[in-house]
Amino acid sequence: MLKGQVLAVDLGGTNVRLGMVTRDGRILRRRRTRIPAAADKEALYEALAGRISEFMSGGARGSTPGAVAVGFAGPTNSSAGYIYTAPNVGQLSDIRLGEELKSRLGLPVVVANDANCAALGEFFYGAGMGSGSLFMFTLGTGVGGSFVIDGEIWEGAWGIAGEIGHTIIATDGPRCNCGRRGCLEALASGSAVIRDYIQKSRISSEARARAVTAKFVFDRARQGDRIANRVVADAARALGIGIANVFHLLNPEIVIIGGGVSRAGASLIKPATAHARECVFPPLRNKLKVRRAKLGDDGALLGAARFAFTKLGSGTDV
Ligand SMILES: [Zn+2]
Repeated sequence: MLKGQVLAVDLGGTNVRLGMVTRDGRILRRRRTRIPAAADKEALYEALAGRISEFMSGGARGSTPGAVAVGFAGPTNSSAGYIYTAPNVGQLSDIRLGEELKSRLGLPVVVANDANCAALGEFFYGAGMGSGSLFMFTLGTGVGGSFVIDGEIWEGAWGIAGEIGHTIIATDGPRCNCGRRGCLEALASGSAVIRDYIQKSRISSEARARAVTAKFVFDRARQGDRIANRVVADAARALGIGIANVFHLLNPEIVIIGGGVSRAGASLIKPATAHARECVFPPLRNKLKVRRAKLGDDGALLGAARFAFTKLGSGTDV
């Protein structure tokens, strides 16, 4: 039985966030640090284990965690503690992060996808509290998705269930990072909004194009910029189709929109929800609930810790 606290690690491409989390979902202390560029896997394991040990030794005596839980920004097989690829961390792939950290730290280690962790966090402590199931869209540079049912992530056979970003919304749509055309990610992500705005406003100067961020486009839309409004409306429409598809496929009790782009708030989520309602079976239109995520960056830490408490709670050695 896992007692006490879990040291949760939110491992992104450039930053590592660490938090000491209690079973009832409180973050007792936290730290944010940069991860040194890892030339190879050994360097990554060493650097990470060093950061974690350092954070651990900074706590009060007797506050050693019972386990370490890592939320990782990439496709992850949590039952094996295995990362398929880490495109943002020196292009590393086939990483046995769980095992490697466990041998260096002498503690049980669980590893899960960070978007899945954020969804678990929202289920237990955030916008999904009290629901039996939820689907969470994570809108950032890309579009991630996670399905939580009865407090557990549904990862599918190979760990990629919920990858809503690579479901195709428009067969002749723009090219996606995955190589195909018309994926939701190519239409409703932060990068899609930026690309679309640059194209539609015919910005040809590289310096001006670099200054366009998703926030810039949403701000311009609020100020009444016609092109920005069209770009946001198109992204919202694509997101609406994605929401309706999820509603028909999985029928979650609640749909949550999180990630950096969700900070655009009502200007994206409201029209997306309205379009989703038009797309779902008419008698069920008022059953569709869409909410904005509540926990922000803390969701991934809280969810990773919760994942460890659930997985190790039975006494299974990992
Ligand atoms: Zn794709």
